[in-house]
Amino acid sequence: MTDVKKDLEKYAHKIVDTGLVVGAGGNLSMRSGDIMYLSPSGFDLKEIEDHQWVRVDIPTGEVLDDLKPSSEILMHLECFRKRPDITAVLHAHPSYSVGVSSTGQKIPNLFPDFPAMVKSVAYLDYMIPTTHVLADAVSDVIEEHDVVVMRNHGVLTVGKTMKEAFFFMQLTEESAKVYTISCTVGTPRVLTEEECDDLRNLSSEQYRQKLLKDSK
Ligand code: 13P
Ligand code: ZN
Repeated sequence: MTDVKKDLEKYAHKIVDTGLVVGAGGNLSMRSGDIMYLSPSGFDLKEIEDHQWVRVDIPTGEVLDDLKPSSEILMHLECFRKRPDITAVLHAHPSYSVGVSSTGQKIPNLFPDFPAMVKSVAYLDYMIPTTHVLADAVSDVIEEHDVVVMRNHGVLTVGKTMKEAFFFMQLTEESAKVYTISCTVGTPRVLTEEECDDLRNLSSEQYRQKLLKDSK
């Protein structure tokens, strides 16, 4: 199995095992040269076999295999076209993030790892999944953000590696979860912008960010 397919399989399992999707929700892809390997449409991500990852030519969008690719193919292509620095795109439907997004609120910075690891998050209003309208909206924000929250739908993350994209997804969901919990107890104190900047400038945080970028 190629390294790319090993990573895809490993993280497809993690996404399902950690409850970031249920049923046939979500999709993931990785770049190898000009080729994107994308999950097939309608699958439980844990059940995708080695030969079922669908190859797509990134510059032309041509589908090179017979199995139907994820219906979010346009969104994945736009990420790779706009971000030469990334090799991985992940889209999931994490409960707390979808819940918070449905209220129209942003996911606040409540604990250090979120602002330290995730530089900025884009928020999109509800758009019909799988359409070019959603893909165009993602295309417009993905150059400046590694995380996109789609109202009443889910979250998209990109990374230098699939591990990074997966960490971004986990951190976003954890933040939405902590926010939801804190709101049931009282009024959360949100980290200030200055506090977030201080975290980002810590040499200990910069070491952790670099370690993540360089590991699989
Ligand atoms: P696919 O099964 O076609 O990838 O669609 C899942 C999804 O999350 C749509 O937004
Ligand atoms: Zn979706």
